[in-house]
Amino acid sequence: MGCKVAKFGGSSLACAERFARVREIISEDPERVYVVPSAPGKHGDDVEKITDMLYSAQENAGSEKFDEIFGRIDKRFTDIVAQLGLGLDIRPHLDTVRENILGGLGPDYAASRGEYLCGIILAEYLGYAFVDAAEVVCFDQKGRFDADRTQRVMAARLKKDRPAVIPGFYGAMPDGGIRTFSRGGSDITGALVSRAVQASVYENWTDVPGFMVADPRIVPESKVIEYVTYKELRELSYMGASVLHEDAIFPVRVEGIPIHVRNTNTPAKRGTMIVKDLPEGYDSGTVTGIAGRKGFTVIAIEKALMNAEVGFGRRVLWVLERHGVSFEHMPTGIDTLSLVISDTELDGKLDTILEDLWAQCNPDSIEAFTNMGVIATVGQGMIRRVGIAARLFTALANESVNVRMIDQGSSELNIIVGVENEDFEKAVRAIYRAFVE
Ligand code: ASP
Repeated sequence: MGCKVAKFGGSSLACAERFARVREIISEDPERVYVVPSAPGKHGDDVEKITDMLYSAQENAGSEKFDEIFGRIDKRFTDIVAQLGLGLDIRPHLDTVRENILGGLGPDYAASRGEYLCGIILAEYLGYAFVDAAEVVCFDQKGRFDADRTQRVMAARLKKDRPAVIPGFYGAMPDGGIRTFSRGGSDITGALVSRAVQASVYENWTDVPGFMVADPRIVPESKVIEYVTYKELRELSYMGASVLHEDAIFPVRVEGIPIHVRNTNTPAKRGTMIVKDLPEGYDSGTVTGIAGRKGFTVIAIEKALMNAEVGFGRRVLWVLERHGVSFEHMPTGIDTLSLVISDTELDGKLDTILEDLWAQCNPDSIEAFTNMGVIATVGQGMIRRVGIAARLFTALANESVNVRMIDQGSSELNIIVGVENEDFEKAVRAIYRAFVE
């Protein structure tokens, strides 16, 4: 029998009632043999996730605030156990966590305990084995994630312990010290488990319907993407669409394991499948998704006969390198070259970079356009299809959006336009209407 890995986000495990829904989902498919939980999310009066409460408990260890914060964490877990009617005695586990935090264990240890405690409870509730992530997710002594060792250790262990619950978000260094991934890292654990057990699918259960074609805050009626390839997803995530932790893609992508993003609240809905190749005969339409970000600066450099001047591009890029600034896009014309740079990268260095570009490149003109937004229209269906760019630019022109920059990746998977920040939402809506409705 094949097996599936089901990872549940914090909102899906926020209280006893949600645990019950998770058990229902698990019981509907006997292939769901490996389960990866996050820590319980916000619930009721708690405006913070358990993970955030644990970080703040650790920060306040030794101060008078500690008891109040830890008391709230304690209550959340004891309530869940009591309301589920479990025979499990969670008290000793909670006491150990409390003592260890007060004893000086650091933020990684503290934050990881949300997943750890949640995993113990869920394993008991499902009747699955509990496999502590500290034993199967390996970091080296410098705290760097060790993918090869993890794969070996985890594959061997999970062959024996099946079905099992493996808490997300953390692992351990050789000396036993706990390390966490960056925030949202339970997604990574789910991917690692999927790879180790060669799952037929990695199910990522969350509280959103899947990947949306466009940000629903801008396009409220946005449809859900049914299938998206890893490549398309990379382009969309890079441009700001986020549902999954970025590092969760790689471990499953190398094995060609699909990721199925699903909503715990509406399990009958199809969600989004992230796949290597689209299924035979599936027509994804032209555009799969639209994503973008504000907060860019475009530096447009012009110089007659730039095309014939050897080393011009190198000097431009050298100036950026010298200032430790990376760029996002570099569209070029015969005598023009533009640099699209995120404002977080520029960080107040724009004036000195412009001076340096004048000095090093001797251009005819340099102009900097600040407050720009960049929008990527992504879709495998655009490849070798005629008229896509015309449709896109007509849609923008009809809305009087001034396009300041155009870049098309050589893969034809992506058309990127730069617009003014204030036109950003209008432009996304226009592209959506032109291709999706
Ligand atoms: N609980 C951790 C966080 O809040 C990890 C996760 O949820 O994936 O970031």
